[in-house]
Amino acid sequence: YDDRDGVIWMDGEMVNWRDAKVHILTHAMHYASSVFEGERAYNGNIFKSREHSERLIASADALDMPLPYSIDQIEAAKDEALRASGLQDAYVRAVVWRGSGEDMGVASAKNPVRMAVAVWGWGAYYGEAKMQGAKLDIAEYKRPSPETIPVHAKAAGLYMICTISKHKAEAKGCSDALFMDYRGYVAEATGANIFFVKDGEVHTPLPDCFLNGITRQTVVQMLKDKGITVHERHILPEEMTDFEQCWLTGTAAEVTPVGQIGDYTFEVGDITREIAEDYEKLVRS
Ligand code: PMP
Repeated sequence: YDDRDGVIWMDGEMVNWRDAKVHILTHAMHYASSVFEGERAYNGNIFKSREHSERLIASADALDMPLPYSIDQIEAAKDEALRASGLQDAYVRAVVWRGSGEDMGVASAKNPVRMAVAVWGWGAYYGEAKMQGAKLDIAEYKRPSPETIPVHAKAAGLYMICTISKHKAEAKGCSDALFMDYRGYVAEATGANIFFVKDGEVHTPLPDCFLNGITRQTVVQMLKDKGITVHERHILPEEMTDFEQCWLTGTAAEVTPVGQIGDYTFEVGDITREIAEDYEKLVRS
C-alpha cells in the first residue's frame, strides 16, 4: 500500500503518498499507542462521518492521547483527503498515534500525538463470499474483559489477536474468525459485529466488552423501524444450533451473510437479504 500515487493528509498537510512516513522510534510501533477509524464514502459522502470522528476522539482519550484537533478539524481533514483522492466510493482510514520525541519508554506524555487520513478504493470486504454466505472459524483467543483493556476504543492493540485469528481462519479456508468473550459468550468477528435470526426475531450480542459498531447501531435501528424484534443479550455458542440466519456488520463488511461458523450452518434467508439491500440503499441515500 505504500508504493502508489496520491496524497495523504498528515498532521495538517497533504503529503505525497510515498513520502507519508514515520520514524522507526515512533512510540506507537513499540507500545501500540495508536487508534484508528475505518469509514466508507458513498457517492462522495462519508457515511456517519461525525459518529466516526467522535469515536476517534473517544478512542484517543481512552489511550491518554488528547488529539490536537477539534471534531470540525477532523471532519475537514477527512473531507480534504477524500476530495484529493478523486474517489466517490472509497474507504477512509483515519489514524492517530503517539510519535517519536523525548521519551522512548512506556510513558510518553511529551511525545506528539499525530494524525493522518488516507483514502483508497476498497470493494467487498469478504470478496466473493459476500452474498453466498461467509464461512467463519471459531477463534482460540477471547475478547478481553473491560477490566483488562479499554475495550470500547478502536485501538491498534486490540487487533493483535484479530490478525492472528484471521490468519488461522484463512489458512483453514475461512473468511474470518468469530470470537467468544472472556466469559464464553459470542462476541464479534475480527472486524465486524454479528447478528442471528430465529423464528423471525433477531438476536445480537450485547456489546459490553467489544466495539458497539456504528453499522451495528444503524442495523439495530433499521430492524426496529421494520417492526422486527431485536434481542441485545448475552448469547451462548451452543445457541447457534437453533439460529437460522446469521450476518456480520461493519463499515468495511457492510452487511455480509454468514453461511457457516465452525460446525454450525445458516441459510442466507429473507431478513438477511432484506437488511443487506436496505443498508445499501441507506448509505447511498
Ligand atoms: N468490531 C471490530 C473489532 C471492528 O474492527 C469493527 C470495524 N470498525 C466493528 C466491530 C464494526 O464497527 P463499525 O460498524 O463501526 O465499522
